[in-house]
Amino acid sequence: DLLVSQIAAGEVVERPASALKEILENSVDAGASEIAVHIFQGGTKLVRVSDNGAGISRDDLPLALARHATSKIDSLEDLQKVASLGFRGEALASIASVSRLRLASRGAEQKHAWRIEAEGGRLSEPEPAALAKGTTVEMHNLYFNTPARRKFLKTDGTEFSHCEEAFRRIALSRPDIAFTLQHNGTARHHLRAADTRRRIAAILGDEFSQTSIFIDEQAADLRLWGSAALPAYSRSSRDAQYFFVNGRFVRDKVIAHALREAYRDVLHLDRHPAFVLFLEMNAGSVDVNVHPTKTEVRFRDPRALHQFIFHTIDKALASPQS
Ligand code: ADP
Ligand code: MG
Repeated sequence: DLLVSQIAAGEVVERPASALKEILENSVDAGASEIAVHIFQGGTKLVRVSDNGAGISRDDLPLALARHATSKIDSLEDLQKVASLGFRGEALASIASVSRLRLASRGAEQKHAWRIEAEGGRLSEPEPAALAKGTTVEMHNLYFNTPARRKFLKTDGTEFSHCEEAFRRIALSRPDIAFTLQHNGTARHHLRAADTRRRIAAILGDEFSQTSIFIDEQAADLRLWGSAALPAYSRSSRDAQYFFVNGRFVRDKVIAHALREAYRDVLHLDRHPAFVLFLEMNAGSVDVNVHPTKTEVRFRDPRALHQFIFHTIDKALASPQS
């Protein structure tokens, strides 16, 4: 029911940026090659994401907003090797319980698009809509029905910077997808499809690219690649620490420790290093089902992982040929 949904939503939809992350992940999971994001007033007024992905058929529209309805896994075994970013089937239901959510979509076999609206969890009947391809999700007036939560929202500027960070993480993880981001009608990012290096440069800037080394190492089922900054990189205002495990942005103590130790060992650098790194491993060696917001994962063999990351970064920093 609505109250249960709203309580659960507290975990998934902490602020506009957390809703944006979920909505963007759905576009990625839908196989989109172009994703456009429009944010108004830091996302508190409106978050709109349009993609050209697979779309949702008329009959599945209400399901997309139903709790625990996911089209992505069928069994517990699937959970062991989940390849999609989402799998719980609760993000849209949660968002719909604390906002006015509009979903318009055109599934592959549909003659035209359909739209559906949820307000505080109540669903409208699907109506015909005009949309050439894919899906557009609009989240209006977050927390309109939960004033206690609304009070915790910060200024539009702060909420937007959280949205931008969520956008950066997804955009870094998928350089093959074209992305745009606008805030209050002003273009902030325009990212054409590219390779990893170009996407990193487009997001972190030329200075980062010119003062970092590119790494690509493989050992057993582990591969680590991406860019790590040398001391010449004078990190200005914000953290540039991006680590992705099998395509998901992850924050992890073991990884952070291995990186810090390598930087300390070679460069005697004690401040936080800057990096954009991608780790790939067997899906069975990592559990992504730890927490709903999913920046946390659990590794089957953290020691081996620590060693691999430490040695790879240590070696790369010791002989930088960028
Ligand atoms: P999950 O991603 O865990 O399955 P969500 O609540 O995020 O759960 O989404 C519910 C369902 O809605 C998805 O499983 C998918 O079938 C559908 N869906 C949501 N967004 C999109 C989209 N942009 N394109 C196609 N299908 C979507
Ligand atoms: Mg999802």
